[in-house]
Amino acid sequence: MNIDWLIVGAGFSGCVLAEQIASKLDQKVLIVEKRDHIGGNAYDCFDNNGILVHQYGPHLFHTNSKKVWDYLSDFTDWHYYQHHVLAAIDGKKVPVPFNLNTLQILFPECYAMKMEEKLIERYGFGKKVPILEMLEDLDQDIQELADYVYKKVFLGYTMKQWGIDPKNLDSSVTARVPIHISRDDRYFQDKYQAVPKNGYTAMFKNLINHPNIKLLLNTDYKEIKDSFPSTKMIYTGPIDAFFDYKFGELPYRSLSFKSIYHSEKEFYQEASQVNYPNDYDFTRITEYKRITGQKIPGTTIMTEEACPYESQINDPYYPIPKKEHGALYRKYQSEAEGLKDKVLFIGRLAEYRYYNMDQVVARALHVFEKDICTS
Ligand code: FAD
Ligand code: UDP
Repeated sequence: MNIDWLIVGAGFSGCVLAEQIASKLDQKVLIVEKRDHIGGNAYDCFDNNGILVHQYGPHLFHTNSKKVWDYLSDFTDWHYYQHHVLAAIDGKKVPVPFNLNTLQILFPECYAMKMEEKLIERYGFGKKVPILEMLEDLDQDIQELADYVYKKVFLGYTMKQWGIDPKNLDSSVTARVPIHISRDDRYFQDKYQAVPKNGYTAMFKNLINHPNIKLLLNTDYKEIKDSFPSTKMIYTGPIDAFFDYKFGELPYRSLSFKSIYHSEKEFYQEASQVNYPNDYDFTRITEYKRITGQKIPGTTIMTEEACPYESQINDPYYPIPKKEHGALYRKYQSEAEGLKDKVLFIGRLAEYRYYNMDQVVARALHVFEKDICTS
């Protein structure tokens, strides 16, 4: 087979780069993917009951980048959807990110009013404040409230999700869900929020539907790489695996997903996602019909329980943002630098970065323009 590029991984990184190379440079690409499907962790499919589910956990597309939005819009129509999440706290289901509505629901009115005024005066209406920053506030009342939110919303959830307490993780992790000094209950505030109308997998099929692109599923790239000794490669798998773990294994967090179908119910829970920071072993329950807008009797829910990643046993879903892991990653990164004329390392696993989907698409488009078009 005559190909110009070997792309390892059929997730967002691999498929966007394949599409760009095939359509803009008119070069031939082979995508090799070890799973039996395209889409990476954004893969979705219909379960045995006909309900569209995200096989690797809920994927909500949100971005402020018009470039990314316009790019993907060439390959899908959208189901416009804004994500709302509840968390089970003190016997109530309350909105998260924690905001002024959450404050009113959880506390007596006079305390909530007093704290609302204080928070607005201190931070300004509409501001977003990371919990680790609010914990350091010099005002005693604000510090006490922050301590409550830390213990009830963040501590238990983060311990389950990462096996580490929030103060020992990179602060960017809990800053993804800052306290909102506003009444905006949405999980994200990005300008563009939606899910692909016919699902992510259908969008991926459109992305790679090009005569210059060939796809090989169920194949680890190591099985075929010797057949393409001088072909340029884009690698989107775990960077430590590429280098045979020569500096040691990078830690990842894995997940175990459990799906339950309720034939007798139109809907199972009050919102698409309910978080359980303090109860049960799982972190959250997602109800897919509420995200996709699918009209069908019955409903499927999914729980996620986090666990350590073990190669050969489960999948690496989350790089763990921590200082010492960054140091280990940089050793691999400098090895990768040495190969940069032959191999490009792109994506959540290859760059060991807690990227969202839009960031991965932006990154792939950038690498195409900066490193591939000009080489
Ligand atoms: P991946 O999707 O991981 O794709 C890499 C591919 O490479 C995989 O298919 C893998 O099988 C393949 N591969 C690896 N090694 C080899 C090998 N040796 N040979 C062949 N193939 C190989 N982002 C959002 O924006 N919104 C969300 O709501 C959201 N929710 C998420 C929920 C969960 C539970 C998870 C885990 C992630 C979530 N994300 C979300 C992040 C999103 O999944 C990623 O940003 C995106 O999928 C990364 O794309 P990628 O192509 O870099 O990596
Ligand atoms: N988080 C939390 N409680 C919540 C929601 C989030 O403690 O109710 C923390 C937790 O550490 C989590 C991080 O914020 O891992 C990021 O949350 P996000 O919803 O962005 O996680 P993802 O969807 O990427 O799993």
